[in-house]
Amino acid sequence: MSKIVVLGSFMMDLVTKVDRLPKNGETLVGLSFIQNSGGKGANQAAAIAKLGKPVIFAGMVGNDDFGLEARRVLDSIGVSTNNLKITKSSPTGIGNVMVDQNGMNRIVIIPGANLVYSSIEFESIKELVRSSKLLVLQLEMDFELTKGAIDFAHKNGVKILLNPAPARKLPKELLRKIDYLTPNETELGILTNQAIQTAEEAIKAAQSLVKEGVKNVIVTLGEKGAVWIDDSGDVTKMKAFSVDAVDTVAAGDSFNGALACGIIDDLDKEEILRTANQVGALTVTKTGAIQSLPTIEELEEFQH
Ligand code: ADP
Repeated sequence: MSKIVVLGSFMMDLVTKVDRLPKNGETLVGLSFIQNSGGKGANQAAAIAKLGKPVIFAGMVGNDDFGLEARRVLDSIGVSTNNLKITKSSPTGIGNVMVDQNGMNRIVIIPGANLVYSSIEFESIKELVRSSKLLVLQLEMDFELTKGAIDFAHKNGVKILLNPAPARKLPKELLRKIDYLTPNETELGILTNQAIQTAEEAIKAAQSLVKEGVKNVIVTLGEKGAVWIDDSGDVTKMKAFSVDAVDTVAAGDSFNGALACGIIDDLDKEEILRTANQVGALTVTKTGAIQSLPTIEELEEFQH
């Protein structure tokens, strides 16, 4: 039985590299094109599967080639896709990404099928959620659906990990149902209405969320590592591992996946944070999203 259900998005990232970003009305010949399976939900489910844990991914793709590719990629790494639905009414979500030589980018996201997933589809996974230990969510699906799923899990004693990305203000009655909230510094700033620049500011802001009823706030701080503030306001800090970072895409997703694995194994906070930082560090050493997530073998090699 799978103890973790991820309810979230799949997006196909269509990435073009260009010398410079085109001006209005201009057509440019670009340098390269690559198609990457992604979306925060799929990335986090993939991170969990690559770390060797059974995981169910629930979401929605279109009746198209990108949807088929989503299933193929997730199946190939052991994510259960029996609850990945197909809609005929919208295409699979895409991210249209243009990156120049200096790393500046322009991105257009079309959520497509991801936003079609509603409480009707959720009905069909209620039993799976009820019998799981942890429900993992992000904010790329319909917000009403996400709120309903949180409500259901909370009422049934299933722990909830919410990665609040992309960030938006969250109502108090929702915050108090969250067992693990995992913003990065920018998202924490939006959640608490302030600019976060230092680890100390992050800790204070996270403590204010705990006061509002979140049980645990785990803030990722990029190359500075991560901090965990628990329900009594206690702080556990963990430095990042020093690596040659080449691409930070999916760093947060891999961290969340590792966190989910540690939580269902009932490991202590220090151990969970250390492993999640290792997984995040390994992810930034490779380019891409799902393909940059480390396997359990790569993690164990890094640890020895
Ligand atoms: P997000 O991708 O959501 O913005 P972060 O940038 O905070 O998330 O990264 C998530 C985690 O990945 C960090 O907490 C850290 O463990 C790891 N990480 C990110 N960037 C680096 C880096 N340059 N060096 C080492 N670890 C990193």
